[in-house]
Amino acid sequence: MNTQPVVLIVDDNPGNIQVLAEALRSDYRIKVAGGGQMALDIIAKQGPPDLILLDVMMPQPDGYEVCRRLKQDSACKNVPVIFVTARSDTQDEALGLRLGAVDYIVKPFRLPIVLARVRNHIALKLKADLLEMHALLDGLTNIHNRRRFDESFASEWKRALRGSTPLSLIMLDIDYFKPYNDNYGHGAGDDCLRKVAATLAAAAERPGDLVARYGGEEFVVLLPETDEEGAARIAEHLRSQVEALQLPHGHSAAAAWLTVSAGVSCIVPQPDSQPDCQPATLLEQTDSMLYRCKQSGRNRVCRWSRRVSQDPEAEGSREGRPAPTFT
Ligand code: GH3
Ligand code: MG
Ligand code: MG
Repeated sequence: MNTQPVVLIVDDNPGNIQVLAEALRSDYRIKVAGGGQMALDIIAKQGPPDLILLDVMMPQPDGYEVCRRLKQDSACKNVPVIFVTARSDTQDEALGLRLGAVDYIVKPFRLPIVLARVRNHIALKLKADLLEMHALLDGLTNIHNRRRFDESFASEWKRALRGSTPLSLIMLDIDYFKPYNDNYGHGAGDDCLRKVAATLAAAAERPGDLVARYGGEEFVVLLPETDEEGAARIAEHLRSQVEALQLPHGHSAAAAWLTVSAGVSCIVPQPDSQPDCQPATLLEQTDSMLYRCKQSGRNRVCRWSRRVSQDPEAEGSREGRPAPTFT
């Protein structure tokens, strides 16, 4: 796989594209667009590049408009844009920079200067990407962290709302982990957290599923487009995979090895935003199902969905068998 940074060159003059592409080709993967709309289409279809060289004077959308739209799009707003343009007025340059471009190069350009600026801005962009990635990873377990989960939860909720699709959540908590730490030591506890995290991350199969450490010895799994039955099945699979690790735990009342409890809930978000159908509802209900697991013996899955919310006794089964739906 080609891991070179990707540079998108946008210009309605093929000659300009050719000169820049030739000069950059040895260090970067080059994509080209002969106009503003084509650039936006390429980005929408193939994902954001690492840097954009953007001509200003083109048929609509012109370079300013393209930049404006990119900066409004959360997926693209961090991509550095360098204007490369014949417009040399102070006002034009100021406008370009105000729109969020990192640099402004006036034509006719001097190729070595363009190359040096591209190199500098790409280096900064890759460093920022790395920092961003680390800011969203949990330091101990190397899986996604709470912040990443919060961001994904907010965007998946909106997506589920738009498509009227179910969104499910699993919260897993290690059983009797305090006695584990107290008896085997904090280092062994940390090892255990790493193993559980890796097991959960490996067991959640679909690319859209997100496994994160929610805090302490608690993990969450966000399952877009997954109904209650599917989520309960996945929760049971995760629970059994942790049990299958057979990590000895001589101070648990649930088993002779380490186990987890899992609360599950599912909601189809509604546009009328009823008070019992909010993102917080999904979190609260998942948490209360987890609490129910703890009260009823641990090492099990308990589930809730809005459909059965009238029944306080609705509870999942221990072995991952489909839970009875109480009505
Ligand atoms: P329950 O079955 O009800 O969940 O009981 P518990 O003992 O697992 O729950 P409790 O909330 O009482 O204790 C959680 C423990 O998790 C306390 C703390 O020592 C441990 N813990 C939290 N974060 C970490 C961590 O990063 N590393 C280690 N080693 N232990 C942690
Ligand atoms: Mg616990
Ligand atoms: Mg806990």
